[in-house]
Amino acid sequence: KRLILIGPPGSGKGTQSPIIKDDYCLCHLATGDMLRAAVAAKTPLGVKAKEAMDKGELVSDDLVVGIIDEAMKKPSCQKGFILDGFPRTVVQAQKLDEVLDKQGVKVDKVLNFAIDDAILEERITGRWIHPSSGRSYHTKFAPPKTPGVDDVTGEPLIQRKDDTAAVLKSRLEAFHKQTMPVIDYYAKKGLVANLHAEKPPKEVTAEVQKVLS
Ligand code: ADP
Ligand code: ADP
Ligand code: ADP
Repeated sequence: KRLILIGPPGSGKGTQSPIIKDDYCLCHLATGDMLRAAVAAKTPLGVKAKEAMDKGELVSDDLVVGIIDEAMKKPSCQKGFILDGFPRTVVQAQKLDEVLDKQGVKVDKVLNFAIDDAILEERITGRWIHPSSGRSYHTKFAPPKTPGVDDVTGEPLIQRKDDTAAVLKSRLEAFHKQTMPVIDYYAKKGLVANLHAEKPPKEVTAEVQKVLS
């Protein structure tokens, strides 16, 4: 399957991705995770992306399309993929169509993590992540076994620099202005499935499984 996950920051894309990935043996490509790795490693890409990310603005289309184009060539992505956090602009969606057309493949489904903005601040400010895997936890909704420690590796968890109420405001603005039109773009193609992303994680997983079965 070739799936796209769209939703505002904190809507649960990163939480559901590993489950979907394992259920269907897909590769998981999260542009936010890839960009954070590049920023941490201070690569040329990371240096270019950092300022926009810190402010909660989108990184330029050329940079993210480059990353995705490259990452989709991996052997593990040939059977199918989950794009988590990409495309976030209509230009990115059009570029993705060009890339997929060349390979003679199509997007199967776009999962829209529909949720009210009001719920997101609590989700975002309580989020802790394991940077190298992208696993996310929540102090209240999904606490790790030991506070501040990843369940799987025992490595420390961190809070994202942009997971503050102030930066969330900019990220939500970018979502409404630049990413909502992407949902329309795919709705016109009849590809969108709307999820009730405000429900508990297990119920969201059940909805996803129903949509994909
Ligand atoms: P969230 O968990 O809020 O959905 P991500 O981890 O997906 O956030 O993205 C973090 C930041 O990385 C974004 O605020 C943006 O600056 C940048 N980013 C990630 N994906 C894209 C993209 N497809 N286009 C432009 N910028 C992106
Ligand atoms: P996204 O990748 O869309 O930005 P995450 O999956 O990282 O969102 O979820 C944001 C925060 O909310 C995390 O701390 C996560 O543990 C928590 N979370 C995810 N899904 C739910 C849910 N359905 N109900 C409550 N909290 C959730
Ligand atoms: P470069 O130094 O060529 O700009 P980076 O070293 O910054 O690329 O890449 C950092 C990480 O982000 C890599 O692990 C890779 O997965 C991804 N990445 C960044 N830029 C690209 C790109 N243009 N093409 C493919 N992958 C990229």
